[in-house]
Amino acid sequence: MKTAAFAQPGVMELRDAPEPEPGPGQVVVAVSLCGICGSDLHEYAAEGPSMRAAGVFQPVMGHEFTGAIAALGEGVEGLREGDIVVVHPGATCGTCWHCTHGAANVCAQQIGTGYMVPGAYAERCLVQASQCLAIPGEEWLERAALTEPFAVALRAVNRGQMKPGETVFIAGGGPIGLLSLIAARRKGAGTIIVSEPAASRRELALQLGADHVIDTAQPASLKVRELTKGMGADLSIEAVGIPPTMDDALAATRRAGRIVIAGSFDLPYTIGLLNLIVQEQSIVATFGYVDEFAEARDLICSGEVDVSPLISRTVALDDLPTTFADMTRSRNDYQKVLVRP
Ligand SMILES: [Zn+2]
Ligand SMILES: [Zn+2]
Repeated sequence: MKTAAFAQPGVMELRDAPEPEPGPGQVVVAVSLCGICGSDLHEYAAEGPSMRAAGVFQPVMGHEFTGAIAALGEGVEGLREGDIVVVHPGATCGTCWHCTHGAANVCAQQIGTGYMVPGAYAERCLVQASQCLAIPGEEWLERAALTEPFAVALRAVNRGQMKPGETVFIAGGGPIGLLSLIAARRKGAGTIIVSEPAASRRELALQLGADHVIDTAQPASLKVRELTKGMGADLSIEAVGIPPTMDDALAATRRAGRIVIAGSFDLPYTIGLLNLIVQEQSIVATFGYVDEFAEARDLICSGEVDVSPLISRTVALDDLPTTFADMTRSRNDYQKVLVRP
């Protein structure tokens, strides 16, 4: 079958791979759509710290996908050939301390489809049957491909313990930033402010329900202070992963407020802890999702939230190598690009 694989930094190539054979408890999913994640683009372009360097790497990436069950291994119950599903990429062990204490997202034994084992930049993908969540019909295949990043955003808001009516500042208007905006709105946020350098993304943020957008040509934190009469945001979500936006998130947050780090920081970040202490602020990290994955599927596939404005375009698997190159050059022009193998 056809796959698209990482060959070397800046190069993806089409590769033929053996047909996956499902073992006991496994299924083969014929991939319908797979989202291109910022972390895959990062891996593709990275010369420095990366999943490769950390030894968590699989050349056939792709972890945000939907499809139909094409083959079942021994002992699989509750799924049939042709069933339409969205795949939870983090197959966890289910038995360790973290898995049994509501923190399966940090299970050290998770398999990680698209990270540790071959992902969905392929015609077919082998997963554990337990990774498959049903979706109600073919008309949801496209939107449900955003279940994974939307689950990340829902968890970012949950980790920030957002209460209804609170002012939320989101630094970054990429897919995670804008999905966090949708999640915060859905959970009853008050004023939502998004900072973003690209005009098209600021425009989309407004369309998705942001109250204010800030061009990062000016210091975003000053503008947030101005918009909140000097108070600052109750909760800030950093959704980029670079020092300037983390600086903004810290400076835009009120005393005793919370800051959630949702961006992937490759490099160390320096912070004046005394400043944090005297303002009694909390910085919280967020990683993946637990119950948020099923919640994201439910919210998308019931039509309660509409993630379709984030789908910029759909490309064929053959076009994935050029699409990666193109998105690396001009990432701000896109939100979510889906691959249709
Ligand atoms: Zn992702
Ligand atoms: Zn575990």
